[in-house]
Amino acid sequence: MGLGYGWAVPELPEVEALAADLRERVVGRVIERVEVCAISALKTFDPPSTALHGRPVTGAGRFGKFLDIASGEMHLVVHLSRAGWLHYRDALPAAPLKPGKGPIALRVRLDTGGGFDLTEQGTQKRLAAYLVRDPSQVPGVAKLGPDALGSDLPTFADRMRSRRGQVKGVLTDQEVLAGVGNAYSDEILHRARLSPFAITDRLSEDQMAALHEATRATLTEATERLVGQGAANLKGEKKSGLVVHNRTGLPCPVCGDTIREVSFADSSLQYCPTCQTGGKPLADRRLSKLLR
Ligand SMILES: [Zn+2]
Repeated sequence: MGLGYGWAVPELPEVEALAADLRERVVGRVIERVEVCAISALKTFDPPSTALHGRPVTGAGRFGKFLDIASGEMHLVVHLSRAGWLHYRDALPAAPLKPGKGPIALRVRLDTGGGFDLTEQGTQKRLAAYLVRDPSQVPGVAKLGPDALGSDLPTFADRMRSRRGQVKGVLTDQEVLAGVGNAYSDEILHRARLSPFAITDRLSEDQMAALHEATRATLTEATERLVGQGAANLKGEKKSGLVVHNRTGLPCPVCGDTIREVSFADSSLQYCPTCQTGGKPLADRRLSKLLR
């Protein structure tokens, strides 16, 4: 668990909650100015960011884990990545930001004197913003599979079986289904009582139905809990709702067994052996490699 909890890519429920927050506070307001502080964060140059000046925000939504802020036919599409976040402020300091300084990648000033910042902590700069006339011009959006929350069982099963592989990897593949990442896939698999290493094309009809229902229920409950919280409280609320993810060594709330972990180069997964793997701990490949 080398990575602190804050370093997690926002997933469908958090991005939906951020969009809901923006719909409440920002939609209908006029964009006064967009300040691009981290040049590398803005991946597009046509239209230029100045094209948003003087235009109203008309909508906020998401595509999978991408946040979408619309102004008429123009869309500011953002992938927050692992260390990125959105901060809304009722009042912004008047002085323009100095490019290349601090964690703020992009600032949007509104006619209210407030606005929001897209920020990124750390040194790996991966936050990506795109100003486009059509969201499908964003490469990651064009390739997204159907939304994980909106998919009925036949669509869900079809998509999951379209890739043969470990269910954890397939469920988090955005081209298969959009919106689920490392945290909620742990929660979904625990709820469905499936091993993260189960192979997709070997799942029975019952297991697939359980996985679909667990996906729907987990994402719906998390979204309902998070919407209305406001950007500032989302991360804490997300953490308090998690049952297995990032809870290595703690008791499973369903059966009381100890939650275990498998580590990878830059991530880890958590699961309950009794609920998910017939009581058998999964091999931790990093550990077995060290022991070999
Ligand atoms: Zn358990």
